[in-house]
Amino acid sequence: MTSSAPAPVWIDCSASGRYRFHEDHPFHPIRLRLTEDLLYACGALSPGQIVSAESNDVDETLERIHRSDYLDAVKELSTPVPSPDAVALAARYGFEPDGDTPYFAGMHEAAAAVVGGSLAAAEAVMTGRASHALHLGGGLHHAFPDRSSGFCVYNDAAAAISWINWRYGAKVLYIDTDVHHGDGVQWCFYADPEAFTFSIHETGKFLFPGTGFANERGTNSGYGACLNVPVEPYTEDDSWLECFTASLTRILRSFKPDVIVSQHGCDAHAFDPLAHVHCSMRVYREIPKIVHRLAHEWTEGRWVALGGGGYDHWNVVPRAWSLLWLEMTDHPMLRDIDSSPNGGELPKDWPRIASDRRPRELPRTWLDDTGRWTPIPRRAEIEAKNRQVLEVALQHLG
Ligand SMILES: [Zn+2]
Ligand SMILES: [Zn+2]
Repeated sequence: MTSSAPAPVWIDCSASGRYRFHEDHPFHPIRLRLTEDLLYACGALSPGQIVSAESNDVDETLERIHRSDYLDAVKELSTPVPSPDAVALAARYGFEPDGDTPYFAGMHEAAAAVVGGSLAAAEAVMTGRASHALHLGGGLHHAFPDRSSGFCVYNDAAAAISWINWRYGAKVLYIDTDVHHGDGVQWCFYADPEAFTFSIHETGKFLFPGTGFANERGTNSGYGACLNVPVEPYTEDDSWLECFTASLTRILRSFKPDVIVSQHGCDAHAFDPLAHVHCSMRVYREIPKIVHRLAHEWTEGRWVALGGGGYDHWNVVPRAWSLLWLEMTDHPMLRDIDSSPNGGELPKDWPRIASDRRPRELPRTWLDDTGRWTPIPRRAEIEAKNRQVLEVALQHLG
């Protein structure tokens, strides 16, 4: 009998799909359904690639990341009718009925399922059962040890990193390309030399959560194991990719990780309604390609990829996340995408999901026709500013 090389796995998102605030909330599980629908329409996702999102270590890992009073509060606020005492304390733990992160019935179970999916992805890769693993239900990078924040209840990304450190003593490089600073993950490992957190995002001068400046570099023995590149609003593909690749090259040389955990929020796209960076779908073709190459060069292929933000549910998220999976699986379709104008055609029959929120016009190609976009008037100024910030950010790296 010959043993075959491990293949990439897709972590089942059906349990984490229950992580849902309300119908009008931007963090809506339709993002996952539309992505799966696009991949099935391409014949690029098959049942044999899908593995269960379960892990035996969820409770123990949650206790390593989150404070016990916070876990108790989340559980109490998850009941159909939370006690008046729990409701009175909700705001202290980051939950407000009309805020970004309202509590909902079943919240603990749903958020724990998200953590389970990201742990299952980490387990698949660290045991060698899979070369790479993708959990698009995960990437909730804003959750803090003692409070929810920015749509995030439990920090599954931090949980996966902590689990890898704890079970394998392995060094983790966390790469966060969401347009918002990966603050929750950063603060969890700020003093930890074994977990390097890298976040490239729109500057906190203008965008939530208001942190992630170039001078945030870690503390104590974790000093130098944190890198932030805050880019200007209206940054476009070339400048964004220049900052991203220059940073990663330096990080890998100095940190030499054992495994990469990446967060793939796709809200840096120009269409995203919640931020002001002006990238096109091209960066969502390039990011996975770069991370994939680096994983094979530096970490023997060990790569755990997670979802994240992305609020243009129909135009952006399904294409961006499908391109990620196509790259992870070395799908032959990428040859056409890379050689066709605008990435070639999407399947004619996609999307096959009925919704009264479906926009009348949907993209017909994998990449955007940016030639039709209005040029950004301050391009040169923005690029120069980003280079300056990059230089400051990289000063302390070897
Ligand atoms: Zn985001
Ligand atoms: Zn590979």
